[in-house]
Amino acid sequence: MKNITVIGAGTMGNGIAHVFAQQGYAVHLFDINQAALDRGVGTIAKNLDRIIAKGVIDEAVKTATLGNITTTTDLKTAVNQADLVVEAATENIEIKLQLFRDLDSLTPENCILATNTSSISITKIAAVTNRPDRVIGMHFMNPVPIMKLIEIIRGYSTSDEVTNTIVALSEKLGKIPVSCNDYPGFVANRILMPMINEAIISLHEGVAGVAEIDAIMKLGMAHPMGPLQLADFIGLDVCLSILRVLHDGLGNPKYAPCPLLVNMVTAGKLGVKSGEGFYDYSASRKAEKVAKGFA
Ligand code: NAD
Repeated sequence: MKNITVIGAGTMGNGIAHVFAQQGYAVHLFDINQAALDRGVGTIAKNLDRIIAKGVIDEAVKTATLGNITTTTDLKTAVNQADLVVEAATENIEIKLQLFRDLDSLTPENCILATNTSSISITKIAAVTNRPDRVIGMHFMNPVPIMKLIEIIRGYSTSDEVTNTIVALSEKLGKIPVSCNDYPGFVANRILMPMINEAIISLHEGVAGVAEIDAIMKLGMAHPMGPLQLADFIGLDVCLSILRVLHDGLGNPKYAPCPLLVNMVTAGKLGVKSGEGFYDYSASRKAEKVAKGFA
């Protein structure tokens, strides 16, 4: 496997492109938006500078990593020689289904089609292609260059051969792949999102303030960050989409998104990426630094 295409240059896509490129793979990074590509490559360069400053890599690695990445807004050019496509576009089912129809017709027939979706059914995505056995979930965690886990999700038709290939490839990236089956939210978000939603409900009902909820969960459960801060980093729009998938897919009212979350997303308060969520990321230099670190 040599040629990797990453679809979407946002929060996750630029991180995925980064880790493949740093391991020496030729990466095509595709987005429909040129500004997103420019921002994505800028973020990769900044994140490489950060690890140079820590003495983990040197300038030569940065040059080689950036040299392995080609950007384009033309899907055909991006994928026509791909051995693997990792799709990390916006969490929207219509966008993903159309992308996978296009990928099925534009990629070589042996190419594996992976999606980084947080919650959309792998089986449903695979069903719009003529190669459902070669479609798989490859769920990287945010921030991708730092987090070790990749949740590997087998769709109903995903073959053993494809699963084994993706597990081995994930290990080559220095990650730890852990497999599960295709049910709404898989494992990570089925457990994480109800906790985040409950934190937002607690805030909404006045049980405690933002700082108190996060402090209690951080100090009491030894979590590295509180659930509201984590929601800001993930993106409140992404959290809302995942909760809706859990609610629709599992049919249990306990997954209904808190009205406060719905209101905040409607008002454009999406967390770090919009500059404001449960915390204000323009309020202090410290918060700005944190936000950029995870950009
Ligand atoms: P994002 O909003 O930061 O970036 C999405 C990018 O997709 C944007 O640059 C947008 O221009 C691009 N895009 C939209 N339509 C496209 C299309 N048709 N073709 C190509 N690019 C297109 O989103 P994100 O947070 O990076 O999420 C991407 C995927 O990763 C989603 O499926 C999300 O559920 C998943 N995910 C997110 C996180 C997280 O913490 N944010 C974690 C794990 C998985």
